[in-house]
Amino acid sequence: MKLLVTGANRGLGLALTTVSIKRGHTVFAGVREQGDRTEALEQLQTLFPKQLMILPLDITEESTCDHAAQHVKASVGTIDAIINNAGLLTERDKRIEELDMNEVHKTFNVNVYGPMRVIKHFLPILSRGDQAGIINISSEAGSFANAYGGDYPYAMSKHALNMFTEQLRHALKGTDISVLAIHPGWMQTDMGGQDAPLSPQEAANGIVDIIERKKHIQASSSFIDFKGQPMQV
Ligand code: NDP
Repeated sequence: MKLLVTGANRGLGLALTTVSIKRGHTVFAGVREQGDRTEALEQLQTLFPKQLMILPLDITEESTCDHAAQHVKASVGTIDAIINNAGLLTERDKRIEELDMNEVHKTFNVNVYGPMRVIKHFLPILSRGDQAGIINISSEAGSFANAYGGDYPYAMSKHALNMFTEQLRHALKGTDISVLAIHPGWMQTDMGGQDAPLSPQEAANGIVDIIERKKHIQASSSFIDFKGQPMQV
């Protein structure tokens, strides 16, 4: 399969890229131009030059989404899966009175409008075969069941991402494209911190199993976890 992974530089995005390549897939790894490429991603490209293509892709810049999609179209025609992984967590635990609204705006720009820009430009080159899929990496924080009176921008943006995913699922009914919002679990990454119980590799293996349709998913909505279990919306 040919996959697009956004935010592939580190954390879950890097793990999804690594796991997919090791399973024989080809990955277009979206990386912000201004972000320093990690040594791990550079090393992966040295080891797998034919399977890993690094793409400049800042999901807050619509022109880079357009250019990236044009580049992929010119090089391979179509892709089989779009993984919107890039995400931002800011203003943790702040009260409403303390919020910096610029940070709120930035969070929505990455976590909600980012995946929308990516889908807008990549949907036309998504294959229509029975392996085609859109995966938006969400969070349990976006569920009503986990609201606790904090993390306003992050929780609200992931809730909105879930709604975008569900809308898209309805819009693409009648195609074979599967459309899912996946909670990857609490992982040891820069965002999750080192106390998290899961490695990003464990989460990535579960998510790639879902993309490969190795798991039977029984959920009434598009929101599931990395094991394929339904999440509360
Ligand atoms: P990290 O903070 O470790 O990595 C975030 C990645 O997103 C980086 O590669 C970063 O790029 C990229 N990114 C941020 N902004 C942009 C942008 N504008 N354009 C392109 N890429 C961007 O996060 P995780 O790996 O932990 O999280 C991955 C996903 O999983 C996120 O969507 C997150 O919300 C979700 N998640 C994570 C959990 C956890 O426990 N870690 C729990 C639940 C959900 P750069 O390297 O250039 O900064």
